[in-house]
Amino acid sequence: MTAQLPRIVPFGDDAVAAAVAVLRVGAIVALPTETVYGLAADATHGAAVASIYGAKGRPSFNPLIVHVADLAAAERIALFDEEARGLAARWWPGPLTLVLPLRGEAGIAGLVTAGLETIAIRVPAHRAMQAVLRAFGGPLAAPSANVSNAISPTRAAHVAASLGARVPLILDDGPTSAGVESTIIGWGAAGAAILRPGPITAEDLGLPLAAGEARINAPGQLATHYAPHKPLRLHAITREAGEWLIGFGAVTGDDTLSASGDLLEAAARLFDALHRADAAPAERIAVAPVPATGIGAAINDRLRRAAHR
Ligand code: AMP
Ligand code: MG
Repeated sequence: MTAQLPRIVPFGDDAVAAAVAVLRVGAIVALPTETVYGLAADATHGAAVASIYGAKGRPSFNPLIVHVADLAAAERIALFDEEARGLAARWWPGPLTLVLPLRGEAGIAGLVTAGLETIAIRVPAHRAMQAVLRAFGGPLAAPSANVSNAISPTRAAHVAASLGARVPLILDDGPTSAGVESTIIGWGAAGAAILRPGPITAEDLGLPLAAGEARINAPGQLATHYAPHKPLRLHAITREAGEWLIGFGAVTGDDTLSASGDLLEAAARLFDALHRADAAPAERIAVAPVPATGIGAAINDRLRRAAHR
């Protein structure tokens, strides 16, 4: 078997058009931002977002950052208050990500936010990412373009070395400038806090900042993971009394992750299915077995965490 290589195209009109064509069919593209190279997918397309996880081989689902062209586009997706708008006006485009309440009507795929009601969003300052966002005309989910647990790529060659044929197209615009991931700001009961340090520092922001991770992860503060409110039973083949069964493949239930047993489809549908189960009249949730191969590992990781709470 000959090793397949990704197509690496230098920044320009043709490269932007090629990237948009790939994104439109629900596939993924590696693109430079001012922080690191990102692995981008249409944020409204669940299966496209699932293929980001497939390519990265991430063993778990974390909410992803959504990139948009400008503040107006961001305000169509997230709810901004005066403080958030002020930060955006001062620092966008730039390496600052804001975690804000998600507008349900924005059509963002459940896998992007990992089922949360908040969304991490930013306007990147890089000309290539900006050009693709404008030509594509919609939000792009984009974590770093490397396999899970590898260092973040700051050059097209790093992406090719890490992901190989798992990414069909890399838009090359030289080395990225910041080299570290964006600063992330979120709001808890105590006000704004840095969730992840980055190129824009606490001093730069000149904000009263809550005391970091511990405070944010405390109950009632910003949740970083969605879990259903009901008890959840794993590896269910049949429905027991009082259960809402989420099927997979041959196991049919009240709902299914994928009737055809497709793991990418199952990943794309996972959080929506959990939300529907939570909203159903049944008191408990059961989920059919899902193979732990490929992206199935991340699905099982999420289901296990949802079952043990
Ligand atoms: P990245 O791999 O650069 O896309 O990293 C995304 C980071 O943003 C992760 O560390 C997430 O935990 C964090 N993040 C994204 N969305 C949210 C959210 N809704 N609430 C809290 N943290 C978030
Ligand atoms: Mg990363």
